[in-house]
Amino acid sequence: MSADSSASVSSAAAALDRYAVAGNPVAHSRSPEIHAAFAVQTGQSLVYERLLCPLDAFEATIRGFVAAGARGCNVTVPFKFEAFRLAQRLTPRARLAGAVNTLRFDAEAAGGWLGDNTDGAGLVADIERNAARPLRGQRVLLIGAGGASAGVLGSLIAARPAAIRVVNRSPDKALALIDSHRAWADQHGVALSAGPLDAAAPDGPHEVLINGTSASLSGAGVPLPETGAPVLARGGLAVDMMYGPSAAAFLDWADAQSGPGGARRDGLGMLVEQAAEAFLVWRGVRPDSASVLADVRRRLESAA
Ligand code: NDP
Repeated sequence: MSADSSASVSSAAAALDRYAVAGNPVAHSRSPEIHAAFAVQTGQSLVYERLLCPLDAFEATIRGFVAAGARGCNVTVPFKFEAFRLAQRLTPRARLAGAVNTLRFDAEAAGGWLGDNTDGAGLVADIERNAARPLRGQRVLLIGAGGASAGVLGSLIAARPAAIRVVNRSPDKALALIDSHRAWADQHGVALSAGPLDAAAPDGPHEVLINGTSASLSGAGVPLPETGAPVLARGGLAVDMMYGPSAAAFLDWADAQSGPGGARRDGLGMLVEQAAEAFLVWRGVRPDSASVLADVRRRLESAA
């Protein structure tokens, strides 16, 4: 197990319930400060760390963390599919996603580890509540078909947009993702389609554009090739699941298409909202996310 210095647990803290964000990389994650703020706000005693997992040793790292007394963890890039396979029980939204971002290490006698996925609830709350942009009837483009995109597709469908197109660098993964959501989409009257990155808007621009790739995280820039045809409609909303300055290149690029009346969100709102859902799963109490989002945003901006 490897955790950063902010995660080193003193003997006093060792007695507290332990949680972490597990991924690779995790150094950029704001999850520890978000959960620390939730704990203070709700009067819960816990410690939340960063858990850097070697790419070939996610399971071993998690088992080591559990052996050290951990109660749960968030799972981030690129381990959400592995976390799905590790869970002994799944919530319906995690089962639909085929990906897990929240593990609760319940004892065998209580049914074993529970896998949930709070990413979709977080993203939709940020778009509809925080950005006041209802998804109903909109045409949505989701770029990416990794763990994060898998986690949000079910919730996006449940918000009943008119259509969702999923495009990915590996187009077969986008196709598999929509196939696994086909029945759910039919139930909600949502048209699903999928394709490669260079076929992002075959029927014209979308009203909502979501970057669910890790391109901004890795510094690879805008994940779509420049075809000259706009993918985002005038006045549309662009979201990058990455947050802070790393999301700026994608959001600036999208702004040029949406123009005046357009809106942009980095992934900080989604992060705080999905964290609030995870906190509820672990602790049985839902924190107030708005005040924490405002605080974390202030700190992120003053650090930039
Ligand atoms: P995964 O590793 O599971 O998936 C990565 C995805 O990005 C794949 O679709 C991959 O395509 C695509 N991709 C990677 N690099 C490029 C590139 N240069 N150009 C085009 N596509 C690329 O990661 P996750 O899905 O778990 O995470 C994706 C991002 O979302 C991360 O930045 C993560 O930090 C962020 N995130 C934010 C959250 C929040 O709360 N704000 C919550 C969850 C995630 P391919 O399939 O072809 O490899």
